[in-house]
Amino acid sequence: MIELEHIDEIYSHDNFTLHEVVLNEIGSYVFVKNRQGEYLYANQLTLELFDTTLQSLKGKTDHSFFQPELLEDILKSDEMVFTSGQTVINEERTQAIPDGKVRIYRAIKKPIFHSTTKQVIGLIGVSTDITDMVEMREQLALQAYTDELTKLYNRRKIWQCFDSAYQRSQQDHSHLSCIIIDIDHFKQVNDTFGHDFGDNVLIELAKTINDNLTDNDHCGRIGGEEFLIVLDNMSGVHALEIAERIRYQFLNSPLNLSSDPFSLSCGVTQLSPDDQECLDLYRRADGALYKAKHLGRNQSVLQ
Ligand code: GH3
Ligand code: MG
Ligand code: MG
Repeated sequence: MIELEHIDEIYSHDNFTLHEVVLNEIGSYVFVKNRQGEYLYANQLTLELFDTTLQSLKGKTDHSFFQPELLEDILKSDEMVFTSGQTVINEERTQAIPDGKVRIYRAIKKPIFHSTTKQVIGLIGVSTDITDMVEMREQLALQAYTDELTKLYNRRKIWQCFDSAYQRSQQDHSHLSCIIIDIDHFKQVNDTFGHDFGDNVLIELAKTINDNLTDNDHCGRIGGEEFLIVLDNMSGVHALEIAERIRYQFLNSPLNLSSDPFSLSCGVTQLSPDDQECLDLYRRADGALYKAKHLGRNQSVLQ
């Protein structure tokens, strides 16, 4: 049996010390740079990423190994270590030139101090590739605020957007409008054509809504066949035009071929000086929607 105290000798056969073996097998990128950002050391994994040797690496900076347009994260955290003299932990999005892939690393960078002057003379870095984890995190975040059927925002997310838009409009004294859309007699659509067809009608409506919105606008599904659109910086009259455009396009959409087409009712409102919160706009738009239903459906009401 191999005694643990002899482990150094075993590895010395490969001309590596135990420390070097550990650094090479650690699964993270380990490196040392001086105050000018020049490499003094890198472990095997880093050398493979850079497609270089330790001799050739020494004295080179990150400019030699990373795409210039994706170098900012690295340079920024290096600079933070040098100026603050503190350990910096950061997520860095970069693209090593030989590797060619954009990856995200969790980098821990520790300052190295001069033994007498105590000035920062370099750093030790340990970077771990967390690309898969970040992608999963982003996917989960997307799922957390997306309505599965229509791919629009879900109720929670659209209310967050509504509240932020409301706060912004208060600060900037700018316009804010909202539209509530409800499909008319949707229960009947399901009863006549089936639930799956009803689902397709919802998807079609979501598409029609998206086609009429800009990146500035937000839309979410707040109920079964009910949608809320938040229009930043837009007057009620302009919002009414958008509601009418959506209503007309939906009425003429490819799915809507029956002699008794599915229609929409829309309640529209804009910010009023008396409003205290976004819920006040919502209540007014809901009142407008109720009026549209009461007046015979298939119409938009602004109030
Ligand atoms: P109104 O004109 O007054 O709005 O009548 P309506 O039938 O649209 O209103 P009601 O609220 O009575 O019915 C809404 C229907 O929406 C009932 C439910 O079956 C249907 N619904 C809710 N969510 C979904 C869904 O995800 N898919 C489908 N296919 N139908 C849904
Ligand atoms: Mg309805
Ligand atoms: Mg409804």
